[in-house]
Amino acid sequence: MKRPIVPPPDCPLCPRLMAFRHENRRKYPDWFNAPVPCFGPLTARIAIAGLAPGLQGANRTGRPFTGDWAGDLLFETLLKLGLARGVYDERADDTLELVNCRIVNSVRCVPPQNKPEPSEINTCRRFLISELEAMANLTVILALGKIAHDSVLRTYGKKIAAHPFKHGGIYDFGPVKLISSYHCSRYNTNTGVLTTPMFEGVVGKAKALATDSL
Ligand code: SF4
Repeated sequence: MKRPIVPPPDCPLCPRLMAFRHENRRKYPDWFNAPVPCFGPLTARIAIAGLAPGLQGANRTGRPFTGDWAGDLLFETLLKLGLARGVYDERADDTLELVNCRIVNSVRCVPPQNKPEPSEINTCRRFLISELEAMANLTVILALGKIAHDSVLRTYGKKIAAHPFKHGGIYDFGPVKLISSYHCSRYNTNTGVLTTPMFEGVVGKAKALATDSL
């Protein structure tokens, strides 16, 4: 099985993010404070593409979406739909396991104010590409939010203008299908942009697409 290329713990490729990482290591020495690895089996058919680690979520715990608001909805939904098993307890060492899906963030390091620069998204794409290439059974990519949607498009050399982001929208790239959702962030759920039924609907569609292609 092909192994993905992973960034080193002190990846220097994005100077601003490296400086923020060092600042966080000084302030919060017990936190993870490093590029956050992907989570889930490499044999999965579904890749869930997020944006970047949250400061007090994945950057603290070391596992994508773990310990922040977005993780509550994401993992609850995956558990409900049979795409995860075990117990989610907001810690990287809880018993949660993903089933047939793997979380692959667009940017591995926590950005200040949760906002990565376009250059950082572009720089970190090499690791996203490597992850997707290593997923030998990859059939469906579920992009959470427009930034992840656009980064996946660029990964496959597709024009953004020709593939606009739409919640529930599906694009077929031949070997893989891209389906996109509003990000399950606190802002989107608090403002009603994304409701729990809407999110369950799109994750369920991703699961069905992966199953249909068996
Ligand atoms: S975001 Fe990615 S490329 Fe940039 S420093 Fe972190 S791991 Fe390296």
